[in-house]
Amino acid sequence: MDVRVRYAPSPTGLQHIGGIRTALFNYFFAKANGGKFILRVEDTDRERYSDESLEDLYSTLEWLGIKWDEGPVVGGPYGPYIQSERFDLYKEYAEKLVEEGKAYYCFCTPERLEEVRKAQVESKSEYQGYDRHCANLSDSEIKAYLAQGIKPVIRFRVPTSGKTTFHDILMGDITRRNCDISPDPILLKSDGFPTYHLANVVDDYLMHITHIMRAQEWIPSGPLHVLLYEAFGWEVPQYCHLPMVMGKDGQKLSKRHGSTAVRDFRAKGYLPEAIINYVTLVGWSLDGSTEFFSKEDLEKCFTMEGIHKAPAVFDYKKLDWFNGQYIRQCDNKRLASLVAPYLQEAGYLSTPLTEQDEELLETLVPPVKERMKVLSDVVPLTSFLFEDKPVEDKNVYIAKGSDEAQTAEALVTGSEILLSGLKNGEAESAIEEKLVALSQNLGIKVNGVFQPIRVAITNSTVSLPLFDSIRLLGLDETEKRLERAVKLFKEN
Ligand code: GLU
Ligand code: ZN
Repeated sequence: MDVRVRYAPSPTGLQHIGGIRTALFNYFFAKANGGKFILRVEDTDRERYSDESLEDLYSTLEWLGIKWDEGPVVGGPYGPYIQSERFDLYKEYAEKLVEEGKAYYCFCTPERLEEVRKAQVESKSEYQGYDRHCANLSDSEIKAYLAQGIKPVIRFRVPTSGKTTFHDILMGDITRRNCDISPDPILLKSDGFPTYHLANVVDDYLMHITHIMRAQEWIPSGPLHVLLYEAFGWEVPQYCHLPMVMGKDGQKLSKRHGSTAVRDFRAKGYLPEAIINYVTLVGWSLDGSTEFFSKEDLEKCFTMEGIHKAPAVFDYKKLDWFNGQYIRQCDNKRLASLVAPYLQEAGYLSTPLTEQDEELLETLVPPVKERMKVLSDVVPLTSFLFEDKPVEDKNVYIAKGSDEAQTAEALVTGSEILLSGLKNGEAESAIEEKLVALSQNLGIKVNGVFQPIRVAITNSTVSLPLFDSIRLLGLDETEKRLERAVKLFKEN
């Protein structure tokens, strides 16, 4: 069988981590099976549609390097791939079902439907939903309504007895009594627009989709879709509903847990390869132990069998870890071009970069690379080079386990050791040893010496390694800042 799968987002919001995971699973499944990955835009909901969402969809997939074989922009044999450009076609299919008695015109006004709903609520009726008022209108009744200019909706005639089963590769058989399926859902609205169910089923059929991998929240639609396939006389594709993506607390991943829009991750400085690697591992594994996968690896080794049944937890810390790993693997040239925009945005480098900026970037990248989790970390890590905001709170200099007097002493003697050592060209390791010895003499921890020195030089407790910082800052400026800190402790 030639595998054909699709990612079918509705452009009603920014691409979410969970949505992108669905896209990745479909994409990798297609690639690993020599099949086709199709992008289809389900924009039947015109009220919630936004151009921004559509642009975000394209730019997110492009950033991740996910290319679709068929879809908007690139076209394909079953296009157009944007549902709003296919509206006439859905009407045709809905009418076909009407002709065969499998669907019918409904002329009920919104007011009438509201009354029905109210009455059901008041009487605590077991039966909820449309009362099938128009299910058996005669031809002459229909003609009369149409003659009055009333535009009908088309409703699907859901069988009132029996059961419908659909098979899910992951979840097994899922069976529902037909009487529990929402009675006679609308397929085509009175303005001729299709609803999600009709457009989705018709398109999956016309686009020859073989496997439907989508979020588990669509399981309840499964039986209805199967009934639609049967009504049309079409073969039902294979279903594989994906495990939910949750936050650590077991709730569906949402803004409460942190960023969920891929665009926000991108802005903070996550690399596409880290997102691809980690997000694919949310609910999938190859062998339970391999952690690193490039996009190319996954294009070969992704299997549906590796998808987990249980809900998957999205762990922000784990993503940070992956991102750090990928940053360290990055070559320095690429990393320089990736961090430059953050430094430009902060006003530290000019746009376009000057030759001097380029040189600075080159020296700055190797040490920074070791400390970054996300690209935007470059700003706090290097701000001491571009602006000098001395720390005036002594407590920031004082490490755990030292007091003020010991810290003052560590600063005074430590500065001397450091500066004379550097001026005399001593090895860094030798200077370091002396500083460690100083901490022993003072009866404090090693950090009791290093922390105040680091804060003095970099104006921060989180910074680059000491000697890298000094190299970047220059000896004169280093000396100036150390003296300033010594003065701060001597003042009172
Ligand atoms: N347009 C639906 C969504 O936004 C697609 C559901 C499906 O894949 O069938 O999730
Ligand atoms: Zn009706």
